[in-house]
Amino acid sequence: MSEAGGDALSVIGLNVWYDEAKALFDVSLRATSGQVVACVGRNGAGKTTLLRTVAGFLKPRSGSIASAGVDLVGLPSYGVAQLGIKYVPQDKMVFSDLTVRENLELSSYATGDYDWEPVTTYFPKLKALMDHKAGHLSGGERQMLMIGRAILGRPGLLLVDEPTEGLAPGIVMHLKHVFRDLSKRATLVIVEQNLPMVCAIADTLYAMSDGRIVAEFAGRGSVRPEVCERYL
Ligand code: ATP
Repeated sequence: MSEAGGDALSVIGLNVWYDEAKALFDVSLRATSGQVVACVGRNGAGKTTLLRTVAGFLKPRSGSIASAGVDLVGLPSYGVAQLGIKYVPQDKMVFSDLTVRENLELSSYATGDYDWEPVTTYFPKLKALMDHKAGHLSGGERQMLMIGRAILGRPGLLLVDEPTEGLAPGIVMHLKHVFRDLSKRATLVIVEQNLPMVCAIADTLYAMSDGRIVAEFAGRGSVRPEVCERYL
């Protein structure tokens, strides 16, 4: 994605409601190109709501969302995806009855990108699983497939919701390296509860509570687990 038009992500004064219940209060967040931005907070803080709103699944009542100068508010989720902004949801939902290969084929069809080399380079294990039904994958393998699908089409901005939740330490470590490498060519916004993992890769960390941004830590020296843990 071109950086010429502005930040990879600029969220200003976002207010989001679920019917009568307000979930986000004047949320502002910024990610410059190639940054890894972390968002942490307790359950119900509004992290998923924020990512889903940026991804076009929820419509804010007010506030602005822009990526590289393009206004995202009002775009449907597929319109946001077509701009190279990919959302990896928390639920690890894959097409269970389809094979790994077929899951990837669907994403290739959607993006027009049939080069799976980055997917199998980051996740070599998927090569051996190509003909397995996705419903039979372990949690870690599903997450590899979720991220693999998302990186087809070479997105400029990845929104990743709690990628390491419930995963074994080995795959958490692997994902940390993948995210670090992906940030060389994309901007990442990662919602995460695993502070040691996310603090190891984040340039900026936002803490949320009760639908608000309550703290911002900028710079690798400031983004440290012992400083941020009070927000979990
Ligand atoms: P978690 O870590 O548990 O996923 P979160 O920080 O991602 O939490 P959200 O899921 O964004 O928080 O929830 C923010 C608020 O919005 C909470 O009060 C939650 O109950 C409410 N909420 C979330 N989804 C809905 C929904 N579909 N309908 C109504 N309220 C919702």
